[in-house]
Amino acid sequence: MSHPIAHTPGRIAESPTEHALPSYLQSDNLGPWGIYLQQVDRVIPYLGHLSRWAETLKRPKRALIVDVPIQLDNGTVAHFEGYRVQHNTSRGPGKGGVRFHQDVTLSEVMALSAWMSIKNAAVNVPYGGAKGGIRVDPKKLSLGELERMTRRYTSEIGIIIGPTKDIPAPDVNTNEQIMAWMMDTYSMNEGATATGVVTGKPVDLGGSLGRRDATGRGVFTVGVEAAQHIGLDIASSRVAVQGFGNVGSVAARLFAQAGARIVAVQDHGGTIFREAGLDIPALLAHVAASGSVAGFAQAESLANDQFWDVDCDILIPAALEQQITALNAGRIKARMVIEGANGPTTPAADDILQDRNVLVLPDVIANAGGVTVSYFEWVQDFSSYFWSEDEINARLVRIMKEAFASVWEVARDKKVSLRTATFIVGCTRILHARELRGLYP
Ligand code: GLU
Repeated sequence: MSHPIAHTPGRIAESPTEHALPSYLQSDNLGPWGIYLQQVDRVIPYLGHLSRWAETLKRPKRALIVDVPIQLDNGTVAHFEGYRVQHNTSRGPGKGGVRFHQDVTLSEVMALSAWMSIKNAAVNVPYGGAKGGIRVDPKKLSLGELERMTRRYTSEIGIIIGPTKDIPAPDVNTNEQIMAWMMDTYSMNEGATATGVVTGKPVDLGGSLGRRDATGRGVFTVGVEAAQHIGLDIASSRVAVQGFGNVGSVAARLFAQAGARIVAVQDHGGTIFREAGLDIPALLAHVAASGSVAGFAQAESLANDQFWDVDCDILIPAALEQQITALNAGRIKARMVIEGANGPTTPAADDILQDRNVLVLPDVIANAGGVTVSYFEWVQDFSSYFWSEDEINARLVRIMKEAFASVWEVARDKKVSLRTATFIVGCTRILHARELRGLYP
């Protein structure tokens, strides 16, 4: 295994040639935190007197870097670098996922925590924003190593998390089992079972029905709402999906069930295409058996870069940040982009898509279904009273539709993109809370 805490330049490195790049490419090189700051700057003119507090949005409230040493199966000790960032807690406890990925950096986690603040405020769940991560390729760990790493990380961040302080959840490469270990570790340290310390837990351990599908269901819900506004018929639409994990696969399934053709799917293993539409249940079975969409028999394989040229009506980036950039935004054929991932589109690409009349449903509203059902899970844990899946889905759909309708109205009134509109709604709520609470001490 390569040394896990080796610092690679990450996505914010300045290359020696960077200053020679044209300005639109320089803005593509900002890295996630730089992108977030640019998104905030675009919104400040719309914040009225609250802009006085805008600096609050430009720095995380608290950022913790932890060393996570574990014993590997071969008897040696490996060190991983972990993070937990609480961007803002004006509206309530920090809330946001934990990701395990080899490219995780502090600045990425800062951006992801900030996007959680905006997202939670946009759907009006009573949370601030937080995010965590470990710089590790979890596929290289055995199950036992993964458990030891998760438990040690949880103990290390235990000084700042808690059911009323900051509530982690799944994100890239983390799942219900990892949440169960986190809940158990925190509870053992506290001396009492604290189910509300994480969400996205197994249903038998205080998890919520509907949580697993919630992000994809939210993506689908806002997609259907937006399609009506632009006269796009979902039942005859063609959809391309990047990422076939918990978000992309559920969104693909729901769009296919509504009659759409899923014409292309890309994941870490490759890109597949079928003009007539992919058989999603068969593809899910293939991925469960092989780990990737690559090699799916009932499809042709494409070079990864060809994904951006696929003829489609709806494009769903549901993988990682900075996928749609100034270099490929001009090639996208879709009429609508629904951001299942966090931060998949750079500001330069946003502008190109807007000029080309491609409607972007931004992450901070489009993928808010996950945290919305996390909120339901947390409420159910506190009351120890659990709701039916129908009730959860109905409440989720209602919140997503209402939040999307408000954002749509702001975008129309102020003639801004849906991203800027969502930031206006989110930042206004956060800074209003900030103002009401005032400065301490
Ligand atoms: N990781 C998910 C997100 O980015 C869910 C966070 C949560 O449920 O707290 O929105």
